[in-house]
Amino acid sequence: MALIFFNTYSRRREEFKPIESGHVRMYTCGPTVYGPAHLGNFRTYMFEDLLRRFLIYKGYKVTQVMNLTDVDDKTIRDSNARGISLEEHTIEYKEMFFRDIDRLNIQRAEYYPSATEHINEMVELVQKLLDKGHAYKSGGSVYYRISTFPEYGALSHMKLEKLKEGSRIDSDEYEKETASDFALWKAWEPDDGNVFWETPLGKGRPGWHIECSAMSMKYLGETFDIHTGGVDNIFPHHENEIAQSEGATGKKFVNYWLHSEHLIIEGKKMAKSEGNFYTLQDLVDRGENLSAVRYLLLSTYYRQQLNFTFEALNAAKNAITRLRDFRDIINNVCREKSNTSTKINPEVETIAQTALGKFETSLDDDLNISPALAAVFDFVKSINVIREKSGLSVADAQIVEEALKKFDSVLGVIYVAEEAIDEEIERLIEKRNQARRNKDFTEADRIRDELDKMGITLEDTSSGTHWKRKL
Ligand code: AMP
Ligand code: ZN
Repeated sequence: MALIFFNTYSRRREEFKPIESGHVRMYTCGPTVYGPAHLGNFRTYMFEDLLRRFLIYKGYKVTQVMNLTDVDDKTIRDSNARGISLEEHTIEYKEMFFRDIDRLNIQRAEYYPSATEHINEMVELVQKLLDKGHAYKSGGSVYYRISTFPEYGALSHMKLEKLKEGSRIDSDEYEKETASDFALWKAWEPDDGNVFWETPLGKGRPGWHIECSAMSMKYLGETFDIHTGGVDNIFPHHENEIAQSEGATGKKFVNYWLHSEHLIIEGKKMAKSEGNFYTLQDLVDRGENLSAVRYLLLSTYYRQQLNFTFEALNAAKNAITRLRDFRDIINNVCREKSNTSTKINPEVETIAQTALGKFETSLDDDLNISPALAAVFDFVKSINVIREKSGLSVADAQIVEEALKKFDSVLGVIYVAEEAIDEEIERLIEKRNQARRNKDFTEADRIRDELDKMGITLEDTSSGTHWKRKL
């Protein structure tokens, strides 16, 4: 079946065809590591995880790049406020980001380039834009002259007459109404403290937008298949990425642009600046289950706004419980010693094939998750009816288990989620045991508290430390 994506650029549903057969190259805008990511950010990362996992499900090799913005207006502002170096500040939030994506069972990308490690590539790209007349220097900074790029505005479908030629903007983020020449390289200012690079462009630091053009093209080539982000990235960030990349190479930058809608809370976009956000840790502290969070973020079509409520989180938890109870029942049948029947019930086979077919065709339709989930729950229901009526042979149960694992290679909430989290728990327990052996009881207690916050209770017995989940 053909895979269809809604392309923001053309505003059309298009059949997906990668540049290299069987291999997808995609770039996903990553976190600005100035503070903990919030649930809104995770909505976007979860959509990208769904996209990634489904491409792999369909047999593609995926090369995914997600950048880490570790130098920009906000990271500088916040590290200064704490009186620590930019690196010290951002490393803390990089580590937190990776811990959080692991906790949500988001698969790791192939590359996580940091902006501060790619200054040379950015300088080279800015130089190219200067050479080609797309950029100009002013007051020690370098700006992109948007009037030199007639396609400017094509992604966000802006009317060109709205663009203010010649006016300049220094900040990384701004509204459509203020579209103007934007900073590629920012001259050092006293507020930047010791954050600067001495380069052929002068003493300063890169703008935010150039970072993604330089790093995407370095790892994926001048033209690649998919670029994603939240809808707030369309303007100015992605518009500027296109202007920078295509201005420098003269080639098409990206074939498919996919954007996820916002996660909202009480009618407003969840955002740090609004103060209406939950971090993952906030939810753990409230005793919420992270697999339920994953399911909730995953279960609304990505181009629709997702309204976050605790009732919805509760419903997500119930949905997972149903799937996991079914998993356990099937697991028991597969391993039941007294069940020696190897006969396959053809009805079981048909139900599994139909469900897998529906799952795939639904997701083929621009990752339409609702009918895909309905196919999984119908599958559970139909198999349960057969099981109660005539029982399942070991061979039947194996077919069912195989299908369930296949669904879960995309959903990541039935089998895999706990494994990923379990590894982290085991690692912390080992660290705590080590601390106890060293008689460092303060550290041991700190780790116990950390696990407690993750919803894990420990029990020290003569046979070792056991743990269980507080569901
Ligand atoms: P930032 O760290 O602000 O650069 O954002 C990282 C990613 O999260 C970007 O792709 C944003 O579009 C996305 N994002 C931010 N807020 C939300 C939200 N409320 N809902 C969905 N995505 C969001
Ligand atoms: Zn970006």
